[in-house]
Amino acid sequence: IDVYGAPVIGKHEQWHGIVIVAHDITELKRLEGIRRDFVANVSHELRTPVTSIKGFSETLLDGAYVDQSALLSFLEIIHKESNRLEMLIQDLLELSRIEREGFQVDAQPTEMDALIETAAERIQGRLEEKNISLKLELQPVLVQGDANRLIQVMINLLINAITYSGAGTAITVRLFEKDGEAVTEVEDQGIGIAASELPRLFERFYRVDRARSRNQGGTGLGLSIVKHLIEAHHGKVEVRSEVGKGTTFTIYLPLAR
Ligand code: ADP
Repeated sequence: IDVYGAPVIGKHEQWHGIVIVAHDITELKRLEGIRRDFVANVSHELRTPVTSIKGFSETLLDGAYVDQSALLSFLEIIHKESNRLEMLIQDLLELSRIEREGFQVDAQPTEMDALIETAAERIQGRLEEKNISLKLELQPVLVQGDANRLIQVMINLLINAITYSGAGTAITVRLFEKDGEAVTEVEDQGIGIAASELPRLFERFYRVDRARSRNQGGTGLGLSIVKHLIEAHHGKVEVRSEVGKGTTFTIYLPLAR
């Protein structure tokens, strides 16, 4: 608490009392803390690929370029790390846009089943790379939503399902109406998430396994983006998981008006 006190003295110097003003700054302090953590996280996340790009390019310039195999493998690392940087910057920009106060999605009557199919087509390559099968069990459902944003949400959830699942497993997406809402489930047979990790899962940069996420090209921002976009649609996201068995993300969205 921020406390400020001052005596109240009348026109003729008579003593009236003391005024005390107390501001509860707990919330301000908390927000300030979150902002500081965020800046520290961003700096750290940006520095990691930059350090790597700088180191490998310097080694090449110092003469390693004459070795063909070093040249190729270092260039591959530099290329991969530049892609990471690009993705990180894209996700950060997207997050800052959708977190801004007053952000609104352009919600129109939209065929949720069709946009799930579009998202599925866009991740086809990744499914094949990992030999993961995708089952779509979709009923025709019309939601009030912004198709491009919802495709982004579905791609983020599907890429996570692929990233955190083993080869040869299956992912199932179900879409149906329940209690006047559109319900979308993305279920995988992957590594699962411990119950103790679930409460922090949607925080920016939160990852259960930092090294694994990085290695797979994750930015740690995907689920924050999902949560913000779904909330901007007046919907909600839930997650259920069992370690070693798999994870299900469920999205609830309003039906078209
Ligand atoms: P990332 O880019 O690291 O995947 P996200 O915000 O998308 O970031 O996810 C945060 C963390 O949640 C991940 O690092 C991972 O530990 C965990 N996670 C997300 N989706 C799944 C899933 N389907 N199965 C297991 N763990 C997951």
